[in-house]
Amino acid sequence: MSNTIENLARANVRALTPYQSARRLGGNGDVWLNANEYPLAVPFDLSQLTLNRYPECQPALVISRYAAYAGLQPEQVLVSRGADEGIELLMRAFCEPGKDAVLFCPPTYGMYSVSAETIGIEYRTVQALDGWQLNLPAISEQLDGVKLVYVCSPNNPTGNPINPADLRQLLEMTRGKALVIADEAYIEFCPDATLAGWLQDYPHLVVLRTLSKAFALAGLRCGFTLANKPVIDLLMKVIAPYPLSTPVADIAAQALSDQGITLMREHVAQLIATREWLIDALKTCDCVEQVFASETNYVLARFTASSQVFKTLWDQGIILRDQNKQPGLAGCLRISIGTREECERTIAALKSLPGSASREQA
Ligand SMILES: *Cc1c(COP(=O)(O)O)cnc(C)c1O
Repeated sequence: MSNTIENLARANVRALTPYQSARRLGGNGDVWLNANEYPLAVPFDLSQLTLNRYPECQPALVISRYAAYAGLQPEQVLVSRGADEGIELLMRAFCEPGKDAVLFCPPTYGMYSVSAETIGIEYRTVQALDGWQLNLPAISEQLDGVKLVYVCSPNNPTGNPINPADLRQLLEMTRGKALVIADEAYIEFCPDATLAGWLQDYPHLVVLRTLSKAFALAGLRCGFTLANKPVIDLLMKVIAPYPLSTPVADIAAQALSDQGITLMREHVAQLIATREWLIDALKTCDCVEQVFASETNYVLARFTASSQVFKTLWDQGIILRDQNKQPGLAGCLRISIGTREECERTIAALKSLPGSASREQA
């Protein structure tokens, strides 16, 4: 019976491996450093209690506050159920399944391929260069039939921003052919690197943002797509009629108040200080081979015997993210910046690994 149902599904859905989200991977931890979440909950009120009515499709206060925060016009902002929905809306609006393609540069965020596979759109990958920058000549050769190029900056899971000069070149080579989507989920940790100000020069640029990371609201599911009006108008054709619930819009507006933004900036400053402490401490651990620079709320490091490190910490309730399977990231684990205490526990666990004094084990 279940076999029959399975056979009724679209072939690409049958073949699909769902996104291995941190929540799906489970674990019985009490130190959660695997989803780049803010470690503590921020306060909020529920002021909109009229749930008998449908919500606004694009709640005006949320849109105007985000536009002011990003330095754009309200018509350049779309709000959705997380940045993940923005990733998918773009494919649904711009890509013909079985005909058009999207392109991105591993190692990078996993949802670009998951969304493409779900919808049935071809995806092409161009491996990042050493230092995780764009391989522009290789991208240029692969652009035929590509409608969307996703560039994560700063990149998850490597932590580096993409060189602005390279992004300019990418925007020049795609002009009139494809959209370039800058995924800025972590931009609050390096705000000067944003491309939002470039929207006036490039009609085919799109910027993705979220409240899930620096704003400490991953559970809210609220993200933003920033683009010029012609792009926003197309996305409005494919978005659900009521993408955000009334409580989500209510809390998002509070997070984007002057007070909410000030609080976010304090959190960012504190996480950056903890990150620098963690990076220095990781460099003193025998099991750590390399720590990559980060402009985000996580750090990528290469370990000797990374699977053993991952498992030993997991068993102690410290949950990291294994990146070992990503192209170019053999032996790498990603550690989200938690509280200072959580980071100290992580370092203590790494220093007391069995046989951590020797680098022999592989
Ligand atoms: C977390 C993350 C997202 C998803 O953000 P949501 O708003 O929670 O859907 C998108 N892109 C990158 C690179 C991320 O790390």
